[in-house]
Amino acid sequence: MNLDLLIKNGRVVFPYEGTTKADIGVKEGRIVAICADAKESRAEKVIDVHGKFLLPGMIDSHTHMGLGSNIENEYESESKSAAIGGVTTMMSFTNCKTSYSDHFKTEKRIGEQKSIIDFALHFGFMNDIHLQEIPKYIEEFGVTSFKFFMNFRGEEGKYMGVEGIDDGYMFDLFVALSKYPESCAAVHAENIEVAWRLRERLIAQGRDDLIAWTESKPCFVEVEAIQRALFYAGIANCSVYIPHVTTREGLNVIRDYKRRKRKVYCETCTHYLMFHAESGLGTIGKVNPPLRDQSDVEALWVGVADGSIDCVTSDHVARKKEKKIGTIWEAAAGFPGLATTLPILLSEGVNKGRFGIERIAEMNNNTAKIFNLYPRKGTIRIGSDADFAVIDLDLEKEVKVEDLKSACDYSLFEGQKIKGWPIMTIVRGKVVMDNGEITVEPGYGVFLNRSVQKK
Ligand SMILES: [Zn+2]
Repeated sequence: MNLDLLIKNGRVVFPYEGTTKADIGVKEGRIVAICADAKESRAEKVIDVHGKFLLPGMIDSHTHMGLGSNIENEYESESKSAAIGGVTTMMSFTNCKTSYSDHFKTEKRIGEQKSIIDFALHFGFMNDIHLQEIPKYIEEFGVTSFKFFMNFRGEEGKYMGVEGIDDGYMFDLFVALSKYPESCAAVHAENIEVAWRLRERLIAQGRDDLIAWTESKPCFVEVEAIQRALFYAGIANCSVYIPHVTTREGLNVIRDYKRRKRKVYCETCTHYLMFHAESGLGTIGKVNPPLRDQSDVEALWVGVADGSIDCVTSDHVARKKEKKIGTIWEAAAGFPGLATTLPILLSEGVNKGRFGIERIAEMNNNTAKIFNLYPRKGTIRIGSDADFAVIDLDLEKEVKVEDLKSACDYSLFEGQKIKGWPIMTIVRGKVVMDNGEITVEPGYGVFLNRSVQKK
């Protein structure tokens, strides 16, 4: 068999198996051979990675396309930024107040025309039409993960244009999804009713600083909401994914449910591992949920290392700096992170000895399994897509915004020295990023259909 691509001399990181020196053969975008010493004459193209680490391509399951500018531009610019960070699959949370039927077709088409890496979607759930259309979303559209915002209620709901969703709605969602055991509800866990009142009080006191933003949403509003979501999900027997866990206590609640063998998964994001409320970021650091304190930061690193946190994501939003000004109450929440998530894990996690590089491969594997992308994505084995991040653990580089290729005009990590970078990103056997340059045209990415069976 002739290969399309042969990757020679990689230190291949096989999730949950270990790291081995191996050559990898690729044909028609898939891995067809893994062996000790392949003959170069059998391949159209040979890439010698000279003993560099080869990770399964990074899956970032938490991104928001189209919140910074128009969505067409962002599928292009932000997918390029993703490729800079070794990301080969991005999953975007999309929201629509009516049926997803037209919305889905439009966003899928835009992604297919513009994205340079593969992509999938999560749908935000906010009305009864969405509940009724679950079978269509899962079986026809191949979308198997749905986000419920516990904070879109009362005043906060009206402000977002959403009315009438509450814990009863959340429970109905869990019951409906339990008919599809492999599907998953992603729950934004926050008690907004408590947060709203605290916020009014802080505003009345004249507070206007990043710490006030954190004080308006204290740890317990997250912890209580996680408990409530997991309690109802347990009754309905539905899989739940808690995005952006920020607190030690919230993580402990999740650990407890995992011990009881409940189908509970969680992520944290790079910014919660790297900053706290007093890091001095100002309005740039405004994010939902807010940054916490140093002890939470440490607890989250422990959670990443010990496996109680399943994956680390970016919660990428490409909102420009001009949206991040005004008072802390006016500034927009969120920031970009697609290009820096893997480098931060390499620099702060692997190179600082918090965990081995194998842990990063495992987290990718977890993401693929939680979101029905496995075994196509998130692993290195025969038949899987040939998605890789080639890693230079010794490469030290200062973060420069223009190098990140995002449409966004800043990065939280600007000026920081990071040691450990992806130097090449490969999607389905094609090099999409080589030494910081994008090497593929927009539209190379494909939509990933994840449809699963009804029980
Ligand atoms: Zn988000």
